[in-house]
Order: sequence, then structure tokens, then C-alpha cells
Amino acid sequence: MLSNRISQLQSSSTIAINRRVLELRADGKQIISFGIGEPNFDVPQKIKEAAIEAINNNFSRYTASDGIKELKQAIIRKFSRDNNLEYEEKNIIVGTGAKQCLYNFFQAVLNGGDEVIIPSPYWLSYPEQIKLSGGTPVFADTAPSFKLKAEQIAKAITNKTKIIVLNSPNNPTGMMIEKEELLKIGELAIEKNIFIVSDEVYEYFIYPPFSSTPSNSPLARGRNGLHISIASLGKEIKDRTITINGLSKSAGMTGWRLGYAAGPEEIISAMRKIQEQTTSNPTSIIQKAAISALDLGKDWMADILKDFEAKRDFACQKLTEIGFEIQVPEGAFYIFFDVSKYFNNEIKNSLGFCADLLDKAGVALIPGGSFGNDNCARLSYAADWNDLKSGMEKIQQYLTPV
Ligand code: PLP
Repeated sequence: MLSNRISQLQSSSTIAINRRVLELRADGKQIISFGIGEPNFDVPQKIKEAAIEAINNNFSRYTASDGIKELKQAIIRKFSRDNNLEYEEKNIIVGTGAKQCLYNFFQAVLNGGDEVIIPSPYWLSYPEQIKLSGGTPVFADTAPSFKLKAEQIAKAITNKTKIIVLNSPNNPTGMMIEKEELLKIGELAIEKNIFIVSDEVYEYFIYPPFSSTPSNSPLARGRNGLHISIASLGKEIKDRTITINGLSKSAGMTGWRLGYAAGPEEIISAMRKIQEQTTSNPTSIIQKAAISALDLGKDWMADILKDFEAKRDFACQKLTEIGFEIQVPEGAFYIFFDVSKYFNNEIKNSLGFCADLLDKAGVALIPGGSFGNDNCARLSYAADWNDLKSGMEKIQQYLTPV
């Protein structure tokens, strides 16, 4: 009865873990969740007030499907200020989350059989959106360092390659792509006539090196990275790049659903056509609030980022003490680490590990299998300090043989 397309879609083990969290909580168990992929800070008051004002001003009707003019202007200001990128309104589309922008892009350019290179580990929606759009995901593995090298992309290119997906800082690894590698990837894309889609939703979450550690320790590997938009590295690269961003992570607005994309006019118009026939415009009042959010930029987050950095350092230190080998993440708010040494007859993969940890220790991590690496698990440290401290203790007790 169902379509062939839907039968190809993976149902995610994230959902299995989340379902179990809900069951255990319903049974009255205390569960600490490090699973959630969203920041734990409040939306700034100024953004809330802009939304309330839009409601009170009856800004309630359909808008242009690709976003209101004032918001496109705010996005243009943001790209110029943060990313050294100059765009015009015809290069911008606003969508219901970065996720919708990505999906519209894949729908707009993929034909059956086209290949899309995804560095692995990856955000789990990329391969599913690509399959839904008729494309074939091809993975470029970055383990064990998780630092993407252009040669890993080069090896995956065939004459069917149409798109390269980049995500820096990366979900789930937190790693960034170095400028030299971005340049080489850009050159490859020009030479082979391939599109680049650059997902930059974690752009504001970048931390200095793990400072309390001697520089020869593996824990010192995090770099004082600077976010670089690949589209800013030359006109020819910009002409084939779609840059994706949104407010979910940068302003803690996951539920408000606002994302945007910038790129060549032809692609943006094609994405607009799809949006016109599917969801129409992003919510009118959220578009007004988004102007405030974009103009606020990143400075207001300074204390939050210091706190996230301290949490990253604490969690990396604890996991290292427990005996895990950690690639210290440079950004985002996740740690992705190998748990395979705890696999045995009962615990056979990352889902088995996470399910057992949840049942016995009451701590939720996300199985790495969902992100393309079944030896690993993802921990989100965007949690409050009490939960972070007691969750790490519980992991330590669970893994320490008595
Ligand atoms: N891209 C990455 C890498 C993500 O991790 C997420 C959300 O987790 C998204 C895109 C989706 O963002 P949005 O909430 O704007 O749709």
C-alpha cells in the first residue's frame, strides 16, 4: 500500500531511545538525557517581544512564500557581518527550519541516480532527505579523527556526483573543517562541476582549545577555530554553493522553526517553487521575530558559550578518566566517542550499548549507528550542570566493574 520511497527510509534508533526514555519516566524512574539536539538556554527577551508585537499588530496573513523583504534584508546583513558574503534578495529564501531548506534544495537539483557525497559521521536527515529526493548517498568516512580531508571527498567522487554536503561544526562530532581543506574541496567542486551545500547551523558554537590540558595530550586537540563559510572563499565556489543556516541553534529557537538558505538565483527560485506548492511561507510572526534574532548576532551569547566550553571540558575530562578515547570537539555541543570496547555477546552495537546504559544507569545517549558510525555514541552537553555532573557519575559507576 505504501510508496517505494517510504520503504527506503530508515526509522531512527534515536526514536527508539527517546521512546524508552518516556517509558522509564512514566514508570517514575529518574532519567538524565544527554540525547537532545538543542540548546538549553532561553530565547532572548528582545526576540520574544518582537514576536508578541507582530501578534498584537495582526501580522497574521500569508506572506511571500520565500520570506518577507525585511527579513531577507536582515539575512543579507547577517551574511555580510558574520561570513564576509554579499547577497541580494533574489539569492535568499526563508524556510520552516534549516531542515526544510535542505530538503527543498535536494528536491530542486536531484534526479534519479545522482550521487551526493556525505562526510560520515553525519546528521541523520541528510541521507534520508537525499533518498526521498531520488538521489543516492555516498559516504566519505572521517573516522577516527573526524577531521574531514579533501582527499576523502576526492576518493568518493564519480561521474554521477552532483552534490557535496559539508557541515562545520559537525553534528555529531563537533569537528570543524580547516580552511585549506575547504579550499581544496571548493577546487574539486569547480573542476568536476559539483554543487556544495554548506550546513552552518552550529556556526556560533565554536570553542578555544581544551586549555587545562598539556599540549601533547590528545585532549588538547581542539583548535581555536574560526568559522569559515566555504562560499566566501572565491566567486567560482560561491556560484555553486548553497549556504544553509537557521535560528534553532544560534538563538535557541528550535520550536519556532526558522531557517534560511543563500545561493545562486536559479537554485533559490527552484526552491521557492517547491515551497510555494508545499508549505507556503514560514510563520508570519516568527519571521518578524527572526529579524530581531539575526540583528542580535552572537555577542549576547558570550557567557553561554563560556559555560558550554566549561561543560565540554568537564565532560571530555570525565569521559577520559572513565577510559574513553576522546576527539575533543571544536564546536557544536556534542561529544562523539567510541564505546565499542564495551560490546560483548549481549551488547552488540551502539544501540545495544545505549539501551543498556539507559536501563541500568538511567542515562540517555544517542547511538552512533544513527549517524553512520555504529562504534560510537553521541553525548549532548547542552544540559544543566547538576545533570551533567550526576550523569557522568552514573556513566562512570555503570562502566566500573565491581
Ligand atoms: N543541520 C544540522 C547539522 C542539525 O543538527 C540540525 C538539527 O539538529 C538541522 C540542520 C536542522 O535545523 P532546523 O531546526 O533549523 O531545521
